[in-house]
Amino acid sequence: MKKISVIVPCYNEEESLPLFHKEVTKVLQDISDADYELLFINDGSKDRTIDIIKFLATKDPHISYFSFSRNFGKEAAMYAGLSHAEGDYCVIMDADLQHPPTLLKKMFYAVDKEGYDCCAGKRLDRTGEGKIRNFLSHSFYRVIQRLTHMDMSDGAGDFRMMSRQMVNAILEMKEYNRYMKGLFSFVGFETKWIEFHNIERVAGETKWTLKSLFSYACEGIFSFSTKPLMLSGMFGTFLLLISFVLAGYIGIDTLFLHHKFNGLLAITLLILVLSGIQMLFVSILGQYISKDYMENKNRPIYIIKESNKPCVS
Ligand code: UDP
Ligand code: MG
Repeated sequence: MKKISVIVPCYNEEESLPLFHKEVTKVLQDISDADYELLFINDGSKDRTIDIIKFLATKDPHISYFSFSRNFGKEAAMYAGLSHAEGDYCVIMDADLQHPPTLLKKMFYAVDKEGYDCCAGKRLDRTGEGKIRNFLSHSFYRVIQRLTHMDMSDGAGDFRMMSRQMVNAILEMKEYNRYMKGLFSFVGFETKWIEFHNIERVAGETKWTLKSLFSYACEGIFSFSTKPLMLSGMFGTFLLLISFVLAGYIGIDTLFLHHKFNGLLAITLLILVLSGIQMLFVSILGQYISKDYMENKNRPIYIIKESNKPCVS
């Protein structure tokens, strides 16, 4: 019998977890031709999440848990879950029921019977999310699509069921700076998309702030595209051309037309613009160097403090 591993990253989800467990168990027990396991990854929660998971684990033998020594982020939690999953198929789900468990049946059918390597949920809308966040997310996905030429469309999240072969391909990529949406797209494989409408989280609050979304967006761009580095060359050439024109203009204006030129203002403006642009591109360069720096340290992606399974982190 095939086995489905359900991976659930949890950060401060004490309120959602009992509901999540009830709903997801109902659906999984209904899939008669597959066994299942639930892997809860407690990502350094500050509330009673780990107590709730332990309590659920005493009642349900399908549950395994891995509790991190601190908050390492959802990317690390997903990687830990995939690394410890035993199933023939792995599915990643949020603990807040924003990923409808009812889709699991369709997903299993697609990977087990229809021959797909992956079946992924695609969110059709962002109902219930703030307007600013909505706008920024749309813009980000437009930019990243252009920069990377990879399929990382808005709405295509981490909610997906993958074959063992695809999971192993993802686990092969042990990079420290992880951007799972990019990795899914990078490994390829045939994916079936199932569309669904956004649902508001069942309890608790989103962990994303505008600041964390911005750094996540930068992570995506700098991990999967080196095009921003080329921008500095293009800007540099452009500025050089402008400076030639300007030099020519100043020469003609003062030598032949004898006009008085407000040199001080022009130079101040020029210095401001040029140093601003230079600093911007130095910081882009710095982003890539810092990523390389972190990769070279070869630090673990996560550290497990406790688990009900024998494991190495
Ligand atoms: N999460 C996590 N570590 C974090 C932040 C979030 O494991 O540092 C989990 C969280 O518990 C949830 C999932 O990732 O199960 C998605 O988080 P959230 O609902 O806050 O994101 P949103 O749905 O608002 O994008
Ligand atoms: Mg959520």
